Amino acid sequence: MSLPKLKIVFNYRSPFCALVVEELFALKRLYRVELDWCLVKEVPRPSSLPITQQNPRFPYNRRDCERRARWRGLDWAPPEWRLTDVSAATHLGLWLLRNRPELFEAYTIRVSRAYWSHGANTSEAATVEALAREVGVAEGDIAAAKAATAAIESELAGNAAWCDESGVLGVPFFVVDGEKFWGSDRVGALKRHLNEAGYGSALAAVDDDILFDNSAAVTVPVAGREASVAVNRIFCVGRNYSEHAREMGVDPTREAPFFFMKPLDALVRSGAQVPYPLGTSRYEYEMELVVVLGEAISSPVAPEEASRAIFGYAAGLDMTRRDLQLAARDKGRPWELGKAFESSAVLGPIKPAEDLDSDPAGQIVLHVNGDIKQNARIADMIWSVQEIVSNLSQYYHLRPGDVIFTGTPAGVGPVVVGDQLQGEIADVGKVEAVIVPRLETRAEPAERASASA
Ligand code: MN
Repeated sequence: MSLPKLKIVFNYRSPFCALVVEELFALKRLYRVELDWCLVKEVPRPSSLPITQQNPRFPYNRRDCERRARWRGLDWAPPEWRLTDVSAATHLGLWLLRNRPELFEAYTIRVSRAYWSHGANTSEAATVEALAREVGVAEGDIAAAKAATAAIESELAGNAAWCDESGVLGVPFFVVDGEKFWGSDRVGALKRHLNEAGYGSALAAVDDDILFDNSAAVTVPVAGREASVAVNRIFCVGRNYSEHAREMGVDPTREAPFFFMKPLDALVRSGAQVPYPLGTSRYEYEMELVVVLGEAISSPVAPEEASRAIFGYAAGLDMTRRDLQLAARDKGRPWELGKAFESSAVLGPIKPAEDLDSDPAGQIVLHVNGDIKQNARIADMIWSVQEIVSNLSQYYHLRPGDVIFTGTPAGVGPVVVGDQLQGEIADVGKVEAVIVPRLETRAEPAERASASA
């Protein structure tokens, strides 16, 4: 079967070749497409302005750059480079793409990192050549790439037809199935196209050398954006509301918060059908505020410094095998059997912190089959979100994509098959799940059905 070609079209002097190619590789991980590329002639643009003051349609405007860098855990200050300055990385990259494709991705990632960290000025030929050497590009190839500039020039005329759209300012764009995807939403628009055309699930095409490949990213959508967060780790805080501590038979105190974790395969998106798990007869809900980190924290931070690392918030359900958890607790054993198992962490869409006027403090409510079961205020948490992140930073190198379930208020209780859980946190969003039969139980009716058919 021949795959559709996802073509990236570079302007001759596309200043952000490396960054856009990074998007291209991200798409390749999600969709069954072949990658292709071509060059086009330079489009007219106001090159006298710093890149950050260009047309607002320009996808790498200042706000976007700052946000992207922040989410990577980097400080970013706008460079004073002009659009036409940053072409050295592009030339070498394009030559590698054609002649040394095996080195292209490593080179691209290196250039991209240098750009985002401001560790090197990627507008200088000498700088990008040094980066190329670091990933194993030979001196002869660097020389050949330089010499090929003239040949690249001669290619431009034939592709000039791509340049007829105005206002693009030389930014690379994507083409697939004859359709062009321009502008600041080009990645989102392209994803919608590929989804509708059925090109999704590229993960099926895994590397043949990898046995039992488990690298599939678990992603959760960002509310109101064409973006998702790939979740890294799932931390959970034990008792963080006084009344819930009391209902669990424990005196609430302000001794340090304690944590447990869930594996990544615990994570399911809001709306999921959650199978009643194995090994329990007391399966319970815990409605919780979830914090999503968007920055690395590599040394302990004070609560006041924690906010900058918070990407956003979501409503979540910490599903719990209460009988197993309490048995483990009473024997002083770890909580894994009670807490860490498949589909036990339901996560709603992530509300970016920058879309909120203030930290979440309002009502946190859970309905089961329409009846209110939990109803409290985020402001009643024993440990604030900032204190939790601060405490965790004393023990872990926190990473973007780490999420923290911050504990549940009073009112926890059991579910049965068929129960509809609907939670909501003011200003943050909703989370929903329905409890369905155990997987082993569900196989039986299907067999009976096919036997009688
Ligand atoms: Mn919990």
